[in-house]
Formats: sequence, structure tokens, C-alpha cells
Amino acid sequence: MGLDGGEEEQMQEAEGCHERIFVSVRLRPLSEKEVVRHDVSDWECINDSTIIYRTKLSVPERSMYPTAYTFDRVFSSDCPNKQVYDAGAKEVALSVVSGINSSIFAYGQTSSGKTYTMIGITEYAMADIYDYIQRHKEREFSLKFSAMEIYNESVRDLLSADSSPLRLLDDPERGTVVEKLTEETLQDWNHFKELLSVCEAQRQIGETSLNEASSRSHQILRVTVESSAIEFLGTDKSSMLSATVSFVDLSGSERASQTLSAGARLKEGCHINRSLLTLGSVIRKLSKGRNGHIPFRVSKLTRILQSSLGGNARTAIICTMSPARSHVEQSRNTLLFASCAK
Ligand code: ADP
Ligand code: MG
Repeated sequence: MGLDGGEEEQMQEAEGCHERIFVSVRLRPLSEKEVVRHDVSDWECINDSTIIYRTKLSVPERSMYPTAYTFDRVFSSDCPNKQVYDAGAKEVALSVVSGINSSIFAYGQTSSGKTYTMIGITEYAMADIYDYIQRHKEREFSLKFSAMEIYNESVRDLLSADSSPLRLLDDPERGTVVEKLTEETLQDWNHFKELLSVCEAQRQIGETSLNEASSRSHQILRVTVESSAIEFLGTDKSSMLSATVSFVDLSGSERASQTLSAGARLKEGCHINRSLLTLGSVIRKLSKGRNGHIPFRVSKLTRILQSSLGGNARTAIICTMSPARSHVEQSRNTLLFASCAK
């Protein structure tokens, strides 16, 4: 496969833990607004894998909430994107060059740092993919990029000015495909950056017409990497590898928990959040093993991501949270989601 020694070892190691989802939690710093209103930080990462609630719990609270939570990794508020990327997302993202599908998610309440985290991770991953290609001249690579947004169970192309909803089709060979989704062949790094700004612009156009869209919509950026060994080019198809890495910036998780509590808005909320709720149950089931029925088909998000989540695909989740006391309830919900995923 043209991997050098160290990488080969890394890949084999990766194969051994296919079954597992890499789950991490990232604290952001207190925002200026939080500082101004004298909000305090309640959470602390005491080592690489444990985050604790520092404030003393009342007696009834003590029976309801844990004070310490353990994950594959936790990242304190001063941890830069590069470190978050290197700790888990890197290995998952790079599996795409060896023909293994993967997905990386940011989960958390609005303003907890999902977009900040995903932008960093996506750029580091793309830089590493290009670096890998540079170092493996014995293979010919081709990269394709697509981007979409799911809002209210409706899928929209982020590379096209046409914002009409796209249909999902079942292809016997490729599984679920998004009909008419733009797929650009990436020329180079600069082209990739250009396409990112197109997505950002498209997303903002949506936001002015759809109230608070970014907290309610999921964004998926996908890069498909295809490669063939040059010596067999055109003669031996078996040397061909193809896989997709999906970078997913999820909608604000506060919607999902509101849905569960506010009876009156249940119907609307369920629709808006079907994708986030289904993702939760898909991930819980996958984390317990890949046997049995997994409800991929219940929502658009999980249908689209089925091949990046199921089978031998690799997954990393970064759960982002505000350290502020005023957000403690949402932070606990996020930690609960993360605990169920590991
Ligand atoms: P979300 O996408 O979850 O709504 P954002 O990523 O937009 O949240 O983050 C909200 C604000 O906090 C932004 O201004 C962002 O720059 C800042 N922020 C988020 N995470 C961090 C971090 N780890 N370090 C520094 N600033 C951060
Ligand atoms: Mg965001």
C-alpha cells in the first residue's frame, strides 16, 4: 500500500480499534461576556483524560451528578487546535488515504466552540493529506470536495447558489447519495481554501433568511480521496483505494435537550432535531458494538453518514463545552452524551 514502516504500524494499530469511537471533551476559555457578568469557571481538566466539577455539590445534587468524568482525552481551555487535532482526530482523518472511511464530529451547545474546533481540525487534516500525497509519489491521488447543510431535515448544497432542497437516493453500489450535490475536484490547497470560503458565504446567505440557522443546522464537509499505484495504473483495478472523510459541525445540542423537556414544542423540535437525536442513538449503539439494528435510516444526517460511521469506518467526536457556571446544565448534558458514546 506504499506506507512507510511507522505509518504501517500506526494503521495496523488503527485497525485493532475500529470498533471504538474516539471520544474527547474540550473546554473553551470563559468568553468576554461571561467574564464581564462575573460568571466563573466550574470545570477543570485534572489530567489528560479526566475532567472534574470543582464546585461543591449539594447533598441532593451529589446523588444526581458525578463530579469526575473520564474520556479518551480531555482538553483544557488553553489547549490549541493543533493539540486537539493531534490527539485523536489526526489518525482518524488520515485513515482516508488508506481507503478507510472516517468521520469527525463537533458536538455541544451553541457558542461552546464547535465551529472553532472543526475549522482547525479540517485545515490540519487537509494539510496532512496533502503532505502524505507529496511523500507518496508511487501512487496517483485525486481529491474531491463537497459540502452540505442539513436544516430541518432538508439538505442544501453549500457549493451552489441554488438553495433548493436536495433529495437522497439509494444507489446499489454507493449506498445513500445526495442527488445533484456539487462535487469539485480539488486542484491544490489554495483551491480547497477558496471552496471553504464559498461554503461560508453560502452558509451566511442562509442564515439571514433562516432565523438562527447555525445553531439549528448541521454542516458536513466531505473529502473523497482516490488513489492507484502508478505501476498498475489502468491495468489493475485492485490497487485502487477510495474513501471519504466527513467533517461535521453539528447543530447546537441545547435544541435536543429542550425538545425532551418542552412538551408544547415537541413536534417542531423533534423535526428540527431528528438528525441530532438519531445520531445520538446511532452512536450509542455503535459504541456497544456493531451488531444488531442501527437506525441509520431514521434521519437525513445518519443516512448521509452511514458509510462514514458503520462498517469499518473510524470516528472521532469532540464534545465542546463552556466552563461557565451559568451553562452547567448544558455542560452536564454534553458530558452525558460523551459518556454514552465511549
Ligand atoms: P459554536 O460553533 O459551538 O456555536 P464557536 O466555535 O462559534 O461556537 O465559538 C464561540 C466563540 O468562542 C467564538 O468567538 C470562538 O472564537 C470562541 N472560542 C471557542 N472555542 C475556543 C477556544 N478553545 N479557544 C479560544 N476561543 C474559543
Ligand atoms: Mg458554530
